[in-house]
Amino acid sequence: MLEIRRRPTRKIFIGGVDIGGDAPIRVQSMTNTPTRDIRATVEQIHLLEKAGCELIRVAVNELEAARAIPQIKKEIEIPLIADIHFDHKLAIEAVKNGADAIRINPGNIGNIHHLERIIEVCREREVPIRIGVNSGSVEKVFLKKYGGPTPDAMVESALQKIAFFESRGFSLLKVSLKSSSIEDTIHAYERFSALSDYPLHIGVTEAGPLLPGTVKSSLGLGILLYKGIGDTIRVSLTGDPIDEIRVCWEILRGLGIRQRGPEIISCPTCGRTQIDIIKIVEEIEDYLQDVSQVFKVAIMGCVVNGPGEAREADIGLAGGRDLGVIFKKGRVIKKVQGEKDLLREFKRELARFLRDNT
Ligand code: SF4
Repeated sequence: MLEIRRRPTRKIFIGGVDIGGDAPIRVQSMTNTPTRDIRATVEQIHLLEKAGCELIRVAVNELEAARAIPQIKKEIEIPLIADIHFDHKLAIEAVKNGADAIRINPGNIGNIHHLERIIEVCREREVPIRIGVNSGSVEKVFLKKYGGPTPDAMVESALQKIAFFESRGFSLLKVSLKSSSIEDTIHAYERFSALSDYPLHIGVTEAGPLLPGTVKSSLGLGILLYKGIGDTIRVSLTGDPIDEIRVCWEILRGLGIRQRGPEIISCPTCGRTQIDIIKIVEEIEDYLQDVSQVFKVAIMGCVVNGPGEAREADIGLAGGRDLGVIFKKGRVIKKVQGEKDLLREFKRELARFLRDNT
């Protein structure tokens, strides 16, 4: 077990979900449907909820999007965060329509009076604001001072914004400092954490398509979490947001921070593989997709490491020549001939296991 000492941060609540302090590290994502399309947005949020998403952010880029919030909220369980750029009126409209929190980049809202209006409505309704500093939109003054969107430039930009909010008596804040560079992201969060205890939303921005994006996010988030930094995480992938949630949970599981759903241990296959492990693993992964119970499943291709791993798991399968052995809690419970029967029997045993262990 890795020893991780979480850096203390203050706690805020978004809807009924706590973030920071001793709260669990929260998993979140963002929809990629047009928010004004209520049906599509609710449908996607339902899938994300099922996958373990605890907070959802939606783009509010037009008035219809802000006005869709009450209906969307009625149909979902998790808190909703409105993501706003440039237009303070959209932020105000989103809050008035019931957003549980908003995310703004104060740098692109610009006008101080507009920011003050946002603070006013958020204060009235106790709605937290995420100050989202992004390396791509650091203000000119800091770019000039630091010679580019360096971690120091991002940190100073964030601290300046916090000072502004605090000077208006508002401290219901969460902060993010994102860059598409892993190194800059880590340095920015590290420096910020040494200077402030506001809760942190962490992520590597514009991480890329599924495979490179997963690797980049896992490295960035993994290193930060290992250093005890981060109160809520978002993995950014060009693709289905469901994958973002899956990756978030695998990162948390890998570090021993939080667990959700089955852990599938499967062999990489080699010249000794005697059954079609790749297909079996794909089918089982699919079969267990919406299961939130925590347990270990092993699927191994031959008799070398197979029985050992399968025995260690809660439920396991070790392949032989046109034969498979099913283990449960370390004991052989079934030997099955034929690959098709094996998959069917294994699913049946999984269903039984899930039923007995709920
Ligand atoms: Fe190869 Fe067997 Fe190891 Fe799978 S379990 S990688 S088939 S030796």
